Amino acid sequence: MTTEQAAGPINPWSVAQQQFDLAAERLNLDPGLRKVLREPRRELIVHFPVKMDDGSVQVFTGYRVQHNLGRGPAKGGIRYHQDVSLDEVKALAMWMTWKCAVVGIPFGGGKGGVVVDPKKLSVKELEGLTRRYATEISIIIGPEKDIPAPDVNTNAQTMAWIMDTYSMHVGYTVPGVITGKPIALGGSEGRNEATARGAVYCIVEAASHLGLDLKTATVAVQGFGNAGSIAARLIRDEGSTVVAVSDSTGGIHNPAGLDVDRIIAWKKEHGTVQGFPGTTDITNAEILEIDCDILIPAALENQITARNAGNIKAKVVAEAANGPTTPEADDILHANGVFSIPDILCNAGGVTVSYFEWVQDLNRDFWNEAEVNEKLKGIMIKAFKDTLMMSLKEGVNMRTAAYLLAVQRVADATAMRGLYP
Ligand code: NAD
Repeated sequence: MTTEQAAGPINPWSVAQQQFDLAAERLNLDPGLRKVLREPRRELIVHFPVKMDDGSVQVFTGYRVQHNLGRGPAKGGIRYHQDVSLDEVKALAMWMTWKCAVVGIPFGGGKGGVVVDPKKLSVKELEGLTRRYATEISIIIGPEKDIPAPDVNTNAQTMAWIMDTYSMHVGYTVPGVITGKPIALGGSEGRNEATARGAVYCIVEAASHLGLDLKTATVAVQGFGNAGSIAARLIRDEGSTVVAVSDSTGGIHNPAGLDVDRIIAWKKEHGTVQGFPGTTDITNAEILEIDCDILIPAALENQITARNAGNIKAKVVAEAANGPTTPEADDILHANGVFSIPDILCNAGGVTVSYFEWVQDLNRDFWNEAEVNEKLKGIMIKAFKDTLMMSLKEGVNMRTAAYLLAVQRVADATAMRGLYP
């Protein structure tokens, strides 16, 4: 039974395993290797207390999953969200393994999350939660073991608290334990924009392959946080017109175009994109089906499903988010001629500059933004071209092509290392 035929909500872990199975089957992967790569190596579940501002104690649940360490330490973000689950974190960790392999950086895949709506916590409570969560997962993280980074609802400040907590435990400053830090603490120039910048490099390559003129293209962006709002700004800088954006409260639309900079300022002031003058309110479901050339999902998983994939009008879907499209929806998009740039390629700019940050931290040698962006561009364009070539050679969509590249690389590394003991 496929994910979407099953009753209830779509489980991201089933989706991730389904995507892996497809690639493993095509690669005719050894059955033993298949079993190894199909499961995470480690899953840590923690329940930890936090003293709230009113003096009460609340217990929160958090996770850190390491999917595969074959090619290097685990790497992957930490998410704060009320809907975080172990299965979601496992899926995100597995996607990180493939993502690092697609862009050829020497990391395995990991991910973390805490079940919390951070909007309901004060800054002090958030700091307490972060420091205690960091303490609980410190038994498996470290600059040579597992290096977290920002994800949904976490940012440079969160990373600074985790770096400080870990450093306090070991008694000296360890910037390389985490990436996405503030520049002043060993963060990298360009990291904040890296996910969106990498996605836009992919869109530029896709447009050139498809003969799509970005100067006249229209764009819709679902999710207006780190990945989405910066992607909107950078695609606007390519000459495209952003016609719709959304956040968790809903979206806004104006077919004549939106002033991205003013909407970023508006969201900062009002906490939502909605209500921006001269726009029509739309829902998060409607934004996906809006008339546009390029759709950038930059929010959460399972947004494009068998139910709405047939109504998508965009010619290109650029997955800044992780897991926004289900396997059934993938098939529908492909059959309809929509060119999807899969998450494990499209949003790999974030982990690539995280890798740069880690290298800079370990060497105590820092690069300027132009250097970071140039190196990022080289890696993203090569990864895009490798994936496109595989897709044309094998006659498969870009996601399957990216999986074929990635799974083969991880399988080779795992096989070469052999089975211990
Ligand atoms: P963020 O917290 O900065 O922003 C998330 C945005 O999504 C917010 O604007 C929020 O309002 C919106 N949102 C939440 N629920 C929504 C919903 N149901 N519908 C529409 N919008 C919704 O997070 P981010 O770092 O930008 O992450 C967004 C996506 O990008 C995630 O899938 C994440 O895994 C992926 N990603 C992020 C990075 C990174 O470096 N930050 C790297 C790779 C991939």
